[in-house]
Amino acid sequence: MSRIAYVNGRYLPHGRAGVHIEDRGFQFADAVYEVCEVKDGLLVDEGRHLQRLTRSLSEIRMAEPRHPAALGAILREVVRRNRVRNGIVYLQVTRGVAPRNHPFPNPEVAPGLIVTARSINPAEGRERARTGIAVITTPDNRWERVDIKSVGLLPNVLAKQKAREAGAFGAWFIDENDYITEGSSTNAWIVTGEGVLVTRPADHSILRGVTRMVVLETAEDLGMTVEERRFTLAEVRSGREAFITASSTLVMPVVKVDGETLGDGLPGPVATQLRSVFHDHADYGRNWASLTK
Ligand code: PLP
Repeated sequence: MSRIAYVNGRYLPHGRAGVHIEDRGFQFADAVYEVCEVKDGLLVDEGRHLQRLTRSLSEIRMAEPRHPAALGAILREVVRRNRVRNGIVYLQVTRGVAPRNHPFPNPEVAPGLIVTARSINPAEGRERARTGIAVITTPDNRWERVDIKSVGLLPNVLAKQKAREAGAFGAWFIDENDYITEGSSTNAWIVTGEGVLVTRPADHSILRGVTRMVVLETAEDLGMTVEERRFTLAEVRSGREAFITASSTLVMPVVKVDGETLGDGLPGPVATQLRSVFHDHADYGRNWASLTK
């Protein structure tokens, strides 16, 4: 079956879908994006993803290209046309097409809007979660507004490649004070020796992961002790567990950091439990309109 992409109002064969060479997303990374999990053909946490998109757009001083309910309808249509049962849907909004010049186009031009979707076999994630993953650490060399979900991801790309070359699944960024910020496309968590679940506060130094937010609520519902505070690599090493969260990986146990095995080298019970109950706590199957009624 051929894939379909949504590009600026049209549904096109994926292989022939393209944007203009002077699209500001292409020229300057002047664009923001969202990735939403698709489970059983339904969008997971669509409302929160679209709320975060609204925030990212406002931080880069862009208007919403469509009402969030209309965006949700396009996301679902792309999922439907691509017959994605399980996978991800990707949305990107750019500041549009204009002669290459750094300031915003004046007068304003129409924003660019693209949506794609692809299937992911859920068995792959399950298998990875059964064994746990390895991560490496690398200095956080990103700009100071990574809470904006911008498509400017070159440091993330280089970090992930470094991880792959080291035989690891992902990379964790470390700030100038030796605290972990987050993964190159995930949020980072530990369970301390005392059993406290810790993740970095959602300031400007991390992306406010939707999965992170749902996991925080889930952990509190389960009566776990949770602290939103910074943590160091030393705490990762002395802790009971570590894991990452993202829409594409869900809760994924980390069993090795910089080549060093954590604890007994097996996924821990907290990460495993949070992964298994995650979808009971996510807004799974509801859409933006139902969330805002
Ligand atoms: N941190 C970064 C840098 C990311 O790129 C992502 C997801 O792409 C996340 C965290 C996790 O966010 P979410 O749970 O909303 O997918």
